Amino acid sequence: MQTDTTTLLDKFKRPIRDLRISIIDKCNFRCPYCMPAEIFGADYNFLSKSERLSSDEIIRLARLFSEVGVSKLRITGGEPLIHPDVINIVSQLTQLPGIEDVALTTNASHLSRHAQALKDAGLHRLTVSLDSLDEEVFQVMNGRKSSVAQVLDGIETAVSVGFERIKLNCVVKKGVNDHTLLDLVRHFKGTGHIVRFIEYMDVGNLNGWKMDDVVTADDILSIVDAEFPIEAVPPNYKGEVATRYRFADGSGEIGMIASVTKPFCGNCTRARISSAGEYYTCLFAINGTDLRTPMRDGAPDKEMLQRISGVWQNRTDQYSELRTSFTRLPAKGAEMYRIGG
Ligand code: SAM
Ligand code: SF4
Ligand code: SF4
Repeated sequence: MQTDTTTLLDKFKRPIRDLRISIIDKCNFRCPYCMPAEIFGADYNFLSKSERLSSDEIIRLARLFSEVGVSKLRITGGEPLIHPDVINIVSQLTQLPGIEDVALTTNASHLSRHAQALKDAGLHRLTVSLDSLDEEVFQVMNGRKSSVAQVLDGIETAVSVGFERIKLNCVVKKGVNDHTLLDLVRHFKGTGHIVRFIEYMDVGNLNGWKMDDVVTADDILSIVDAEFPIEAVPPNYKGEVATRYRFADGSGEIGMIASVTKPFCGNCTRARISSAGEYYTCLFAINGTDLRTPMRDGAPDKEMLQRISGVWQNRTDQYSELRTSFTRLPAKGAEMYRIGG
């Protein structure tokens, strides 16, 4: 419940509505665009258990954010389904007053065995990342030997326990998986699930991003439209990240997340918490605000709420919009696996 009747707004009058919580920084995949295997090797220093937010700290922060206006939560990582306490976390988050929607993004490698428990815990929505249906291409995109079949099994189990309209995130990298996009569309067309193509983003500093690797949303749309005619659909709500397109034959829709070529900072209502308890007001922010230390030092709710509100009120982030007007990229900071996308 919001304690205050006034909406918490940032410097550009954007309200705080969504919170993305990275519950763990570790992942069993090594997608080169996120956690390249040559950097994230066997001796990579991920957070220790005590450095990570505990389940209780995650729940407390989510409750505090709900008190300043957040009504939607997304659980992410790293890979959230390798967190040993993920089901309990989901169950507690879905019961928080003021929280209307809890979603989880996963690579689905462990989805089959968790789907029923996630449903029972009250999870509202699932997003599954799947960059290609071609086994070889998928393995290049995930940097491991994880198979497409495992992901499809996970989706099937999720559907069998009652998850509907699953979103499928496909990051598109030029020359790597762009020749397999139509297979994905063909496979999920008519199922009610929604394939969302994501322009490869320059998040963090480790993936060696260059504009030449990006297939633009316009190009992706042309590829899809040539085979399956599509038309634009208005957003479900203000600030929706993906632009929607429906198949002209009425068999469903796809989404486009064009954060490189068509930035959407003007409506961005998203806050993020890393698994170490840093609070970020932008996916590309250089610095986060440490919420873990004051919590562990015993800060009462009132003080935590002041910190959370103060950071949002001073927010001026619009990285993606600035990026398009810079000849050199503005500085950026946190890595995707830490703040969860
Ligand atoms: N491990 C889970 C997964 O992959 O679904 C959740 C965390 S992952 C960081 C969240 C989303 O970010 C995934 O859909 C992933 O494809 C996307 N992502 C990661 N790095 C990206 C990049 N450089 N550009 C665009 N999307 C990216
Ligand atoms: Fe892991 Fe997700 Fe990053 Fe891939 S995108 S390495 S699955 S956290
Ligand atoms: Fe929001 Fe930052 Fe992305 Fe802009 S660049 S949409 S402010 S997260």
